[in-house]
Amino acid sequence: MSSIDTPLDLTLDGGALTARLVDFPSVSGDEQALADAVETALRAYPHLRVDRYGNNVVARTGLGRAERVLIAGHLDTVPIADNVPHHIEGDLLYGCGASDMKSGVAVALRLAAGLTEPNHDITYVFYDCEEIEASRNGLGHLATAHPDWLAADFAILMEPSGAMVEGGCQGTMRAQITLTGTRAHAARSWLGDNAIHHAAEVLGLLAAYQAREVEIDGLKYHEGLNAVRVDGGVAGNVIPDECVVTVNFRFAPDRSVADAEAHLREVFEGFKLEITDSAPGALPGLGQPAAQAFLAATGGQARAKFGWTDVARFSALGVPAVNYGPGDPDLAHKRNEYCSLAAIALVEERLRAWLTD
Ligand SMILES: [Zn+2]
Repeated sequence: MSSIDTPLDLTLDGGALTARLVDFPSVSGDEQALADAVETALRAYPHLRVDRYGNNVVARTGLGRAERVLIAGHLDTVPIADNVPHHIEGDLLYGCGASDMKSGVAVALRLAAGLTEPNHDITYVFYDCEEIEASRNGLGHLATAHPDWLAADFAILMEPSGAMVEGGCQGTMRAQITLTGTRAHAARSWLGDNAIHHAAEVLGLLAAYQAREVEIDGLKYHEGLNAVRVDGGVAGNVIPDECVVTVNFRFAPDRSVADAEAHLREVFEGFKLEITDSAPGALPGLGQPAAQAFLAATGGQARAKFGWTDVARFSALGVPAVNYGPGDPDLAHKRNEYCSLAAIALVEERLRAWLTD
């Protein structure tokens, strides 16, 4: 019997369930069989209400508790790289998705099955297409079609975080600054006005820029404003009349996208500046009562998340969110991806203690 024909057994321990999930291929766009198996497994538990939208499965308790916690994980992986089926060496489980993030999904599934009377109501979300273009992201589709399914006071995304709480995430914005001049033959350059030379003023502003470090809920975020591309030039004998400097601004989550844009327009006042894309950051929300208790239960340590993750989608819905999962973020997407079995057990134990104390 092949692995995908065998029902998922949510009573396996966390490591064994992770191994089972690694051996159940679910590359982005190909999650249906795994979503079916997850849905079937969860429907066996009468304490959960289970809903399905596309290849997204949402299971919820309805105990009337004062607060609701949401625990989410994506079902998809990057393409398999000769790393399925899994293998185990000592404490390490190797295989595609072991770190990002079938270990986190295994923990969430075990909690969903085992916690019949948690101290908070819990919503478990298993979604598709996280590893590919944002327009296909299952969490994004759920937020549009069924925002009520995602209602919560606090969310935990089980992305690999090395069993450390990583709060919020920084926002990102790209902008193009266009410098103009007058085209001329390089042999008579005094008749022209060199647009590339004007870029020096922009580069000077960037080099002198003092990036802000800001503390939010005890976490230190470090902003950055950098040139990431320069385009200009016509030919080897032409004074160029246009130069475009592309900048990327990574901003702390106390700024909105509008604030970030206003800041860039202030920094580059007098220049022609166009915003080409942006994504908001997410506040860590560690001041919330549910988050405080969570932080205490997980050892009281948290660090800022600098990259952009799906926690920002929760933030946009008004739900503070953190990353907390057993995988190692440095190993995500690598051929030799692995996860520590001890970390899987530890993360599950801490979440279970927090949700039952
Ligand atoms: Zn991931």
